[in-house]
Amino acid sequence: MAGGLGMGSAEGFQLVEELATLLGGVVGASRPAIEGGWVSRAHQIGQSGKTVAPRLYIACGISGAMQHISGAVGSKYIVAVNKDPDASIFKVADVGIVGDALTILPLMMDEIRARKGL
Ligand SMILES: Cc1cc2nc3c(=O)[nH]c(=O)nc-3n(C[C@H](O)[C@H](O)[C@H](O)COP(=O)(O)OP(=O)(O)OC[C@H]3O[C@@H](n4cnc5c(N)ncnc54)[C@H](O)[C@@H]3O)c2cc1C
Repeated sequence: MAGGLGMGSAEGFQLVEELATLLGGVVGASRPAIEGGWVSRAHQIGQSGKTVAPRLYIACGISGAMQHISGAVGSKYIVAVNKDPDASIFKVADVGIVGDALTILPLMMDEIRARKGL
């Protein structure tokens, strides 16, 4: 699970943290999200951060710059949420959702809670 500049603010980034918790995952971020002070540098994924290879990588509001995605291309299954249909993240994503992550993440969480009976 990772959030980028497209999450818009620290409050927006909290949605990424909530979804990660709900899925039993951990939070990563792109460099701009770290520079914005939304999450600590230890969470940076990419060329100058960590390399990860989870079973599922959900990239929210991340454009898919090579310096970021190089740290996550080893993931088994990549889901991307981005409002720009031409974002390069969709070239590496197995599933792409075009839309506003601030709207889509709460809908995803509602659906997951319903399926988990929470
Ligand atoms: C030497 C060097 C090393 C670097 N190392 C790293 C690194 O380790 N890790 C790293 O991440 N970056 C690194 N970078 C920076 C990298 O090049 C990119 O600038 C960075 O990854 C972009 O982050 P981003 O995708 O969050 O932001 P952006 O590229 O600005 O993309 C934001 C995306 O959010 C989308 N968006 C906007 N609003 C919404 C919304 N409401 N809902 C859904 N989508 C939305 C936009 O369409 C856009 O695609 C490095 C750069 C250099 C030069």
